[in-house]
Amino acid sequence: MYLEDVNRVICEEELELEEFLDIVGEILRSGGVDKTIVVDSRSGEVIENKKLCAALKKIGVIRLPVSHQVSETIFIPLEHLGFFEDIKPSKYRVFMDTEELLYRNWPTPLVKLRKSSINGRVAWAKLEGFNPWSMSVKDRIGWYMFKKSLEKSGKENIRMLVEATSTNTGLAIAAMCTIYGSKLRAYIPSTVSTTGEILLKIFGADVIRSPKSLTVELIDEVEDVAKKQSAIHLNQFYNDANFEVHLRYTAKELELQIREAGIIPKAIFGGLGTSGHLSAIAFYFKNRFKEVKIYGVVPKQGTFIQGIRRIESGMKWVHKVEIDKIVEISPDEAAKAVLEIVRNDGIFVGLSSGAVYAAYKKMVENKELEEGDYILIFPDMGFKYVEQLSKYI
Ligand code: PLP
Repeated sequence: MYLEDVNRVICEEELELEEFLDIVGEILRSGGVDKTIVVDSRSGEVIENKKLCAALKKIGVIRLPVSHQVSETIFIPLEHLGFFEDIKPSKYRVFMDTEELLYRNWPTPLVKLRKSSINGRVAWAKLEGFNPWSMSVKDRIGWYMFKKSLEKSGKENIRMLVEATSTNTGLAIAAMCTIYGSKLRAYIPSTVSTTGEILLKIFGADVIRSPKSLTVELIDEVEDVAKKQSAIHLNQFYNDANFEVHLRYTAKELELQIREAGIIPKAIFGGLGTSGHLSAIAFYFKNRFKEVKIYGVVPKQGTFIQGIRRIESGMKWVHKVEIDKIVEISPDEAAKAVLEIVRNDGIFVGLSSGAVYAAYKKMVENKELEEGDYILIFPDMGFKYVEQLSKYI
């Protein structure tokens, strides 16, 4: 057995989501792999454990355990595979272009909210608003879905993109479009703020506003347009690159960060939109740290909070993972929570972050949380939502 640079091993095996989850779940639980990938010594082709090879590539290992002709039974820990080396921040914050500014800026900060923490239930915020383009968690998926599409279709075929978005994903894809010389037409629901629409136009996207109120309701129409006009529809709601980027980076980052903080969180709170980020974090943490609880946050029935929505409106990945509880929050509670956080700790986060904090607070008040550390995933910052917040000040 030897460890081979991942780029020197070619395995283009397609993996169904279920197969991928089975293989990766086992790797995360055991903390490594227990067999080698067999490569033919003459052709260099992978001849055995192709799916394992594809799954290891997808989760971003740097080195693969390879043997010639026969597979060996040997345990190789994640560290030896360079699993965590995939996260490589620029030490002195120098970046060669604005794409590198995204992925070499990771991990996004994890910060203790000293004054917003309640009764020994210490709240740690992961600030996804520190991503550079949309200033939200959605930069991750805009980047990854676009890159995967580029790999598959080639640059010349990715000229025109269409996407249904409630702003953030649109901004992220629009940024990738400017970098790669493509064009985005963004379809937004009626509930998106004027600020969102203006921002998309500033980023160079064409914007079409629909009378429908949920982004997810626009998917079929956008898919139709994509087919008729030979445009690329990345489709954040179904594209597994959404889930994968959060598994490969967001969740992995969080493990490195809790190690540095010296904590094992009792629970992680996050909002559900496409369900990409919280599902990946749930999958990762349930396999790596069995005891960590995962709480999902959605708007109260019949209400609307930009970025998150009800599970029954249709989500893909949340049904493949274990979520311990769903907490319902009203727009009022979310807005008041935003003001509470900024006035306690001086950080101005967005409304879905407010909803996440309100869920944590509600569970503390209901005596559902024991003392310890809690991670709150804050998807973006508050500056896009000043219109909605103006009535609370
Ligand atoms: N919060 C905000 C502000 C968002 O823009 C989104 C997604 O659009 C979410 C939360 C939900 O994230 P996800 O789609 O990963 O579930």
